[in-house]
Amino acid sequence: MTRSIRPLVAGNWKMNGLKADLAIAAEVAKGYDAALKRGVDIAICPPATLLFTTSATLIGTRIATGGQDCSTQGSGAFTGELSAAMLADAGASFCIVGHSERRTLHGESNATVKAKAEAAQKALLVPIVCVGETKGEREAGKALAIVEEQLRGSIPEGSTAGTLVVAYEPVWAIGTGLTPTAADVAEMHAAIRTELGLLIGKAAAAGVRLLYGGSVKPSNAAELMNVAHVDGALVGGASLKAEEFLAIARACNG
Ligand code: PEP
Repeated sequence: MTRSIRPLVAGNWKMNGLKADLAIAAEVAKGYDAALKRGVDIAICPPATLLFTTSATLIGTRIATGGQDCSTQGSGAFTGELSAAMLADAGASFCIVGHSERRTLHGESNATVKAKAEAAQKALLVPIVCVGETKGEREAGKALAIVEEQLRGSIPEGSTAGTLVVAYEPVWAIGTGLTPTAADVAEMHAAIRTELGLLIGKAAAAGVRLLYGGSVKPSNAAELMNVAHVDGALVGGASLKAEEFLAIARACNG
């Protein structure tokens, strides 16, 4: 953790969740007690169909919501797309952009991710910009170079600590049960902080929340969250179980 940074634990529900699953958000809200509220921010990023109702369910709880993607465009003839302003209108405060599933399955380039992050900021959403290397890239010793390149291509100029979150998610760790060693996470997060300093200035970079994501669960959260420059978690699978998600949040509340 970075002592001066309030951690954020964000849940990415991906393409999971029907109306009945609003109960998960309600249960998370119930467990977000005074001790947790003192030390950790929580956000839930449900599928877009549930964003408005999740936001409504969470009014008054201090739990934020977020989208999982947004259009690069503001409005118009873009069938099937959702603008950042629409997500904000549905109650969102955050928007995940550049998740590896979007980069891989939808061919999103760094330039597209940057345009989405800019669109999010324009709508006063905080983009959670995801970066991370594949297994092959790590094995080839290219993890740092790949992530630095993703940052250079994906981070909007002029971002500040309050308008940007970065999530390091090694592609090979997402949904696999595999995680990097604490030493590898420490090396990557320190490198991300340094690269951000070059891109947006050292003072701004010092306050940006750097999340780790990829198979975070209650059993490994404490170790991962205690790594320097890890300021919270982006949680996929475990965010669909309120008790597991809360346990991860408690591990951040150190
Ligand atoms: C994710 O998809 O952002 C993620 C981190 O997934 P999981 O926690 O399931 O690995």
